[in-house]
Amino acid sequence: MDRNSRIFVAGHRGLAGSAILRRLAEAGCTDLVLRDRSQLDLTDQAAVRSFFDREKIEYVFLAAAKVGGILANERFSADFIRDNLLIQTNVIDAAWRSGVKKLLFLGSSCLYPKFAEQPVKEEALLTGAMEPSNKPYAIAKIAGITMCQAYRRQYGFNAISAMPSNLYGPGDHYEPENSHVLPGLIRRFHDARIDGQPSVTLWGTGTPRREFLYIDDLADACLHLMDSYDGEDIINVGPGEDIAIADLANLIRGTVGYEGALTHDLSKPDGHPRKLMDVSRLFATGWRPKVSLEEGVRRSYEWFLANGARTA
Ligand code: GDP
Repeated sequence: MDRNSRIFVAGHRGLAGSAILRRLAEAGCTDLVLRDRSQLDLTDQAAVRSFFDREKIEYVFLAAAKVGGILANERFSADFIRDNLLIQTNVIDAAWRSGVKKLLFLGSSCLYPKFAEQPVKEEALLTGAMEPSNKPYAIAKIAGITMCQAYRRQYGFNAISAMPSNLYGPGDHYEPENSHVLPGLIRRFHDARIDGQPSVTLWGTGTPRREFLYIDDLADACLHLMDSYDGEDIINVGPGEDIAIADLANLIRGTVGYEGALTHDLSKPDGHPRKLMDVSRLFATGWRPKVSLEEGVRRSYEWFLANGARTA
């Protein structure tokens, strides 16, 4: 991808898209095409086709998706499968039709089977039963990956797919209920400190393990793959290390400075027991993440404090 290329970042207001945008700007890319939801509804096929026909895009980072934590996935399961299927189908197809040179699609580590052997290799996709809590999201995303592979085979379209681990960082949704665990806990520990609550409740047993990738590291990996990888095989993107949710909670508690107790709500789902990916395929290309979990949590909390955290 040459730095003068015309690049569309779909979903540039979201966690992944906004980080990709920052990284592209840092790399000196200036011909960036951006549309927010009010300007272009990616679930509208006709609108997406005419956008691509008009704009003569060369490269696409497809970071637009409906995402959320474990409870949001259960509560809004129809929205998760519909919106993701529509967005990705419209964008991938219109990109190919309009002659886009290359497209990068984002999957997720939650697409792998619930009991996949850990660390999960790329070959494990579609080899076992899925985790029910995010199945509609995962089925939609697997369709997107399969679509990229099929368009490459039948039409020679250069579409690649990356599989990020759990993403976090500045710009995420820091809501108590519908967020992913890391921003959700930052929010709840912070509110508990401000309100002087005696305890914070952790969902589930605290024993599930997750692999967290700081969003700027994801963006860096996306550019790296756009520049250096062509192929139908999916590529895992993560730091290659995981942490138990209870340990994550303690790390966040320390960062936020909350001194109360931690209790468990066992009526909430645990989800996957573990989601650690084998990242040797990516690491063999020379890429490494730069931001440690401690540093990433600190930066995330600073961003949250500056962007809407309650002070009283
Ligand atoms: P997942 O990786 O798709 O399961 O999504 P989440 O980030 O929502 O949840 C990760 C794990 O953290 C699950 O085992 C949750 O039960 C657990 N968890 C503990 N406390 C919380 C919380 O406050 N919010 C969320 N979203 N998950 C939590």
